[in-house]
Parts: sequence; C-alpha cells; structure tokens
Amino acid sequence: MGRFHEIQQAMAMASVNVHCMNPGDKDISYANNSSLQKNILLKTRQFLEDTVKDMLSKFLPVTCLKVADLGCASGPNTFFSTYEIMDTITRICQKQHWESPELQVFLNDLPENDFNAVFRSVPALNERLKKDEGDLRGPCFIVGVPGSFYQRLFPSRSMHFVYSSSSLHWLSKAPRGDKGNIYMSKSSSADAFKAYSEQFRMDFLKFLRLRSEEMVGGGRMLHCLVGRSSTDPTSNDCCSIYELLNKSLFDLVAKGLVQESNVDSFNVPYYNPCEQEMREIIEEEGSFNLDKIEVFEVNWDFEDNNGNKNYVFEKNKSGQNVAKTVRAAYEYILASHFGEIIIDELFTRYAQYVGEHLSEEKTKFITFVVLMTKK
Ligand code: SAH
Repeated sequence: MGRFHEIQQAMAMASVNVHCMNPGDKDISYANNSSLQKNILLKTRQFLEDTVKDMLSKFLPVTCLKVADLGCASGPNTFFSTYEIMDTITRICQKQHWESPELQVFLNDLPENDFNAVFRSVPALNERLKKDEGDLRGPCFIVGVPGSFYQRLFPSRSMHFVYSSSSLHWLSKAPRGDKGNIYMSKSSSADAFKAYSEQFRMDFLKFLRLRSEEMVGGGRMLHCLVGRSSTDPTSNDCCSIYELLNKSLFDLVAKGLVQESNVDSFNVPYYNPCEQEMREIIEEEGSFNLDKIEVFEVNWDFEDNNGNKNYVFEKNKSGQNVAKTVRAAYEYILASHFGEIIIDELFTRYAQYVGEHLSEEKTKFITFVVLMTKK
C-alpha cells in the first residue's frame, strides 16, 4: 500500500466532491468517507491480480488492452484498482519477457461525478507508475465515461476487462416499497420484497446484456458488491442498517420535522442480493460463464478491520464512523427528498442507534466478489 499512498493523497487533495455529497462540506464527502469501500477493495486485491494474470495469458500479445472501472467515484479509491491492474500487467510481462501492451482505462460514473477531480490526479498516478516501473510499462491512456452502467457505455466487442467495486448494489431506480419502510425490513409486505428483488433482476439482467455486447469473447468481469448471507431478505446483515435509519427518520416525524407521508414515499435505490439470485440471473442471461463467487464479511465500522490491531470497540465512535459512511453515500438522496435541514439531526440520531446496535450485535456487511468470463 505504501507505493499507492501518494496517489491516494493527491486524489484526496484534489477537489473531493462527488455528486452524492454536500459540495461545501469536505468532511462528509465520499472522498473523505470511503474507508469502508477501501476495506472492501483491499480484500479483492488477490482476485484482481489472479484475474488480470489469467486474462493476460489469454489475450497477449495484444496491442491495446481495454479496461473499465464502473462506478469509479472521485476520491482516494478511484485509482486503487487502476494502479493494481497496471502494476500487475507490468510485473507479469516483465516476468514472462513479454512486451507490455498499451492500456486504455475507462473510468465510468454517473455524469454528476466530479470527473475534473479524477482527471487532476492522473499526473500523480503517471508519476507514481513512472517512479515504480520506469520504462517497463506500456503507455496508458485514461478516459472518463460519464453515464449509467445501465446503458451502453462502450463500442461493441471492444472491452477486455470490466471491473466494479461497491457499485453494482445501486439500482437504476428506487422500487415501490411499503409505506413507512425506506428499504426491505422484517415488517415488509411480500409485494415490497418482490418489488426490490424484481428491480435487481431487471437491472442486473440488463447490465449483463449490455456488457456482453461491449466485451470481446474471453473478456473478464470482476464485480465486488454488498449482498446478504441468506435467501431471507430480512436477515440482519441485509436490513439492520436501514431499519436504524428508518427509526431515526420516524424520530424526526415524531418531532414534526419530517412528514410521515414523505417517509412513506421514500425508498432507497439499493439492493443486497443473495448468492443464489445472482447465480440464477447470470445463468438466465446466458452470455457469461460464472467462474467464481467468493463471499467475505466486512465490519460496519471501517476502523474495525484486520489491519487495525489497536482497535477497541467504543460505542459512540463506532456509531459515528458508520453514520459517516452511510451519510456520504445517502446525503444527496435524503437531502433531495426530505430537505437538507434535517440531515445533521438525522445522522446524529442514526449514529446513536448504530452505536447501541453494535454494542449488542456485531452485524457485518456481506460482500461478494463475482468473477465472470464472456462466452
Ligand atoms: N468504486 C468506488 C466507489 C464506490 S461508491 C469505491 O470502491 O470506493 C459507488 C459509486 O457508483 C458512486 O460513485 C456512484 O455514483 C456510482 N454509481 C451508482 N450507480 C451508478 C450507475 N448506474 N452508473 C454508473 N455509476 C453509478
């Protein structure tokens, strides 16, 4: 991680706002609150390296390898996977005495993403790679691709490797859930569960079909997303984080700060799939071989990770850490629906509820790494 640190710093120092954050407040921006996603990225490192190695053995010699990171955001994590991919390619080519291919890296996110901040950090990435690898590396061309990954993004049969981390659990739109529940919960109706799972099915099917049009035969995909541990959509690892947000919103309803009808009409555009439904959708769509699905757990509190040996649970601190992570992801959507004025109070309450929850039960995020090959 040491070598990568400087690029991350440069990225963090560049303008750090992404579309879903309050532009004025750096502290709650995704760029400054993406440590949880970083923990997830670190866990996928080995898969990334193995996949890139295997892909190279199939595609080399090739003039230009085309790689995409979907939902790249703008912040310290943006170049993490790009750096890993470039570094792995250089190392393997060197070892095998192959000439390094040219590399074109497509960084995709929604148009509101701060691509300017991303582009401003490209020189730091290039400098770093030059320092680490000298002339061993082939040229790398970085391109920004604004648009939804639920639409076509790339020319037909052009991409060799498509990657995403912490992005694919975002749906194309919020399903129609139940009144009074912002997500699926233990009290949800069968219709609400169906609306959520059906939206995911439609989105994921579409995503696979679009990517299959864009990828060359034998091309690889690696996606890392948050899911749930069982087929039961009310499992704690799926719902608890939102049930606590729901509870915080209803506190504000009780105080007259939020209208109940506004909670009724709000649903999060997010879904935690289980392994079985992802397998079924990939099979149903039919363009990709599913090579592997790996499951791992990540603690809610980003400070509570394997690398942090000095971690001691402290209720308030953990509650605040989780609240910051969730706020960075949801501030924009919540503020657009309920008004910015409630956000501070909402997340103060949320931090308390999360702290209390974690002192009783150490619920974790369930994360999947999904590896596929285009047929
Ligand atoms: N990959 C980064 C960012 C994860 S946050 C990391 O690992 O830290 C999720 C990102 O996905 C956000 O930047 C969000 O804007 C983006 N995203 C969500 N839905 C998207 C869509 N339909 N198309 C493209 N990007 C999307």
